[in-house]
Amino acid sequence: MTAEPIIHTLARGGSARGLHYWLSWLDCPQRAALENERRDEPETQARFVQTYSGMLVGTIGHAYLEHFWKMLQAERGAAIDPVGVVRFHETYVDDDARKEATNCVSSLLRVIAADGPIPLSTTEVGFVEKEISSKDALMRFGVPEFTGRLDVALKLGSEHIAALKGHAANTELLNVDGAVGALKPGKWILDYKFLGSRDTNLLDRTLGSLQYAAYQMLFEELPGEEPAAGLIQICPFNVKGNPVRFTVVPSPSEDARAMVRNILVQAREAQERGPVPKPLDHNCYPYKGICPFHHAAGGPCKRF
Ligand code: SF4
Repeated sequence: MTAEPIIHTLARGGSARGLHYWLSWLDCPQRAALENERRDEPETQARFVQTYSGMLVGTIGHAYLEHFWKMLQAERGAAIDPVGVVRFHETYVDDDARKEATNCVSSLLRVIAADGPIPLSTTEVGFVEKEISSKDALMRFGVPEFTGRLDVALKLGSEHIAALKGHAANTELLNVDGAVGALKPGKWILDYKFLGSRDTNLLDRTLGSLQYAAYQMLFEELPGEEPAAGLIQICPFNVKGNPVRFTVVPSPSEDARAMVRNILVQAREAQERGPVPKPLDHNCYPYKGICPFHHAAGGPCKRF
């Protein structure tokens, strides 16, 4: 039987008031204000889906995996290939980005099916692509609104933990700060990294990731949820022969929790000071390219 196509609209970026949003006020308040104003404009969205970028690869990959887990939850069958079922609402989506995301998702699903590190059971999947909003953000996080979009939460049983620790031929398990020792049956948050998979500094970034600390803190806000045992980062590599990599991320320490809050408070203060350009040139000329609001790039910023 051929499955009905699922029409998906690609949404740019993560959650509306997540860590990335708040940190952007510390980079350049003017840029943060401009980005926020234009975030939902049709031209911004069209440029995003029609131009190759790592963020687009990740957005497409997340869309495929979102529907994979949702199909599983709806008992439409784990064998359904999301790449064959999901169609995008947009008239044109960059072809290279779509192919790269397809390769990544296919290699991840092959590993999951073959080695069993992640359960393929409807009863084990808790939630998929869930936006969590802190109920008392000002008190807990120091900002009026704080949100996070978590990829998946599911229960891992002892057989999945054994598979993860088994170092199967096509997976790699990184032991961050001895965190593999913390692997135990329970509810785990999964986070995929598509663009980040290619970053040679990924391990360092994962070790000190305030985003992962914030995700775990936000998870604790969910009423009725048992506490998460932790977070596992999944890097579905796209190069043939390379493994899918799982990294167990330590639970946030008290220091990491305090740092999330301190940085958010600084970001809120920057936002309250208003959209003034910040005289730090690396924000205007980052190595990835000139700021899109710089007047030389046709933007409105008259700082120069
Ligand atoms: S060009 Fe520089 S100062 Fe102007 S908005 Fe961009 S980052 Fe900010």
